[in-house]
Amino acid sequence: QKAEWNKLKNEATVTADGKHYTIAANIGTPKDLTGVLDNGAEAIGLYRTEFLYMDSAELPSEDDQFQAYKTVLESMGDKPVVVRTMDIGGDKHLPYLPLPEEMNPFLGYRAIRISLDRQEIFRTQLRALLRASVHGKLQIMFPMIATLPEFRQAKAIFEEEKAKLVAEGTPVSDDIQTGIMIEIPAAAVLADQFAKEVDFFSIGTNDLIQYTMAADRGNEHVSYLYQPYNPSILRLVKNVIDAAHKEGKWTGMCGEAAGDSIMAPLLLGMGLDEYSMSATSVLRVRSLMKRLSTADMKVLADKAMTEMTTNDEVAEMVKKATNQ
Ligand code: PEP
Ligand code: MG
Repeated sequence: QKAEWNKLKNEATVTADGKHYTIAANIGTPKDLTGVLDNGAEAIGLYRTEFLYMDSAELPSEDDQFQAYKTVLESMGDKPVVVRTMDIGGDKHLPYLPLPEEMNPFLGYRAIRISLDRQEIFRTQLRALLRASVHGKLQIMFPMIATLPEFRQAKAIFEEEKAKLVAEGTPVSDDIQTGIMIEIPAAAVLADQFAKEVDFFSIGTNDLIQYTMAADRGNEHVSYLYQPYNPSILRLVKNVIDAAHKEGKWTGMCGEAAGDSIMAPLLLGMGLDEYSMSATSVLRVRSLMKRLSTADMKVLADKAMTEMTTNDEVAEMVKKATNQ
């Protein structure tokens, strides 16, 4: 099977009925690039920049960040790289950045909430990204966005730093898309409003499922509630994709579910544009998609969202329909 998959390394991802989709990879550090290139990913759909901060004894300087971003952008050439701004908090901590003691860290001070509060950290990261932007095809996304004003503020800060660099004569790309992670149900519900202002969505199912089901993603006592195919999750995902398409925008998914063999056929049926996963899943999913027809998967996805009531029912139906 591995040998069969390997033949797909340099192929585009095309379904049985001839539609092209993008299979991208998730990375944590520039070291992960080898896996991305070896497995023929068509883009980087999520660069988790918090590792830059976690692997450092102090806040990484603008130059250190610039070097890392430049390396990633240059290696990918004209392929898009979606860089997510710092997602610290929740279960990720920095020894040099004391965070408040919280009863519920996953519902607390994390990600964009920290960035908008500690703006010097955020501005340094955005400057590093802007300077690196001329070395490839950069797209930036903000994690844990719950409200439109949060996105507007993040975007305004981005524009301010861009204007400053331009005024200083530093070259920056004029073609950087800005988008948001959809991982909070409030944003998934109001996707139609967000879609008017963002360039793209990237659905983070790891958190979206945890917040929708009210079940801590790391707590084994409630792990049965981690249900990617629960029709409630499917409907939220569909709402996001449709809202984006109505405004001519694109939607990716960078949570674990994007590389899941049961979920991918459903996502295909919903019209998801980009599938971002660990590099080792890329060829498996490309091979699966090659034998699926989007028209058939649309019927399947619609049935899953309207006639099915549980995660397991959906899983059973998809397995049967796709011979898995
Ligand atoms: C997600 O929440 O699905 C996601 C991709 O982000 P992380 O796993 O880094 O929280
Ligand atoms: Mg997340």
